[in-house]
Amino acid sequence: MTTTTTPSLPIYLDYAATTPVDARVAEVMQRYLTADQLFANPASRSHMLGWQAEQVVEQARRQVADTIGADPREIVWTSGATEADNLALIGYLRANRERGMHLVTSTIEHKAIVDTAVALEREGFDVTWLTPAHDGTISPEMLRAAMRDDTALVSLMAVNNELGSINDIAALAKVAHEFGAVFHTDAAQAVGRIPLDVVAQKIDLMSLSGHKTYGPKGVGALYVKRHPDIRLEALIHGGGHERGMRSGTLPTHQIAGMGEAFLLMQKEHADDQAHITHLQQRFLKGLETLDGVVANTPLDRAVPNILNLAFEGIDGESLLMALRDVAVSTGSACNSASVDPSYVLLGVGVPRTLALSSLRFSFGRFTTQDDIDHALTLIRHAVSGLRTLPR
Ligand code: PMP
Repeated sequence: MTTTTTPSLPIYLDYAATTPVDARVAEVMQRYLTADQLFANPASRSHMLGWQAEQVVEQARRQVADTIGADPREIVWTSGATEADNLALIGYLRANRERGMHLVTSTIEHKAIVDTAVALEREGFDVTWLTPAHDGTISPEMLRAAMRDDTALVSLMAVNNELGSINDIAALAKVAHEFGAVFHTDAAQAVGRIPLDVVAQKIDLMSLSGHKTYGPKGVGALYVKRHPDIRLEALIHGGGHERGMRSGTLPTHQIAGMGEAFLLMQKEHADDQAHITHLQQRFLKGLETLDGVVANTPLDRAVPNILNLAFEGIDGESLLMALRDVAVSTGSACNSASVDPSYVLLGVGVPRTLALSSLRFSFGRFTTQDDIDHALTLIRHAVSGLRTLPR
């Protein structure tokens, strides 16, 4: 017998924005805060408590490195994927001006890339902005056509945060290397959702975030390849530095939390994916009875946890209001809610009116079947209600 429970409201379907910290991760983080625990500065080399804290950081470094097939010495801690993206682009281009002044990226990257590339244009670097195909992906041919002798860096994301579309990062890295450029990918949304292996995929720089995979906010990492050694100019200067690229006291509890979250992801991602795929299919099936629902997400080339849908004839903001018991994103998901249509949707050719009618639903480890069923009821009700209003 299956029992149905009423989910607590609002129903959280915004996992691509952030995930709750897994209780097992929170338990690990608690160990590194108070006076009776391992609170010491991992940079304190003069006493045992400092060495022990350093060991905690090094264990987490191994856990994060293992998740992407890297050597632990290639992991540089940051405050999140935003800082990792900034460090990759600014740090690499400034340190390697003699290599070339050209950067290739795309119009639908996360703002942490787009705004950083715009800042680099102001500094005199030349940026080529690739327009993706309708399915949100960049093909190797598109990239090849943009490559030049002075292209120093290519930055293309692994999984798009609004569409869920997946790029073939191994094929894109190959093209970048044919032209002697370094390849960076923002994998904040990709960890645990697609296979990542920096050696097999030949990735040079990879941005990671703690809070997209049931870890804490305010921590992330940049993978920086060591052979051949990639030089980056630091953005943050000071003591206790990581390979001369990043300074400041490391947040032991957050780093330990990110390590534990990545370890759990390695162990549980197959179960997570099966659970989420089941929920996504149930959700899509439940929407079949509703007319005028258009998937912006390329369903055959996307991660199952992100679903961007347009509701024809309905204003996304009004739908968001009517759906106040369902936590979802609209507009450009990273600045949700916004009255502007998402630049990502416009960037893949979604017409402006449809882009304004779109919402991003994203599911996660703690989403239940009851959450999905209840959300479907609320969506059907809200959509039919809004469609009966005089226009
Ligand atoms: N890149 C992508 C693809 C993202 O989805 C996000 C989070 N919205 C970020 C970068 C920024 O990550 P963080 O919050 O760790 O700075």
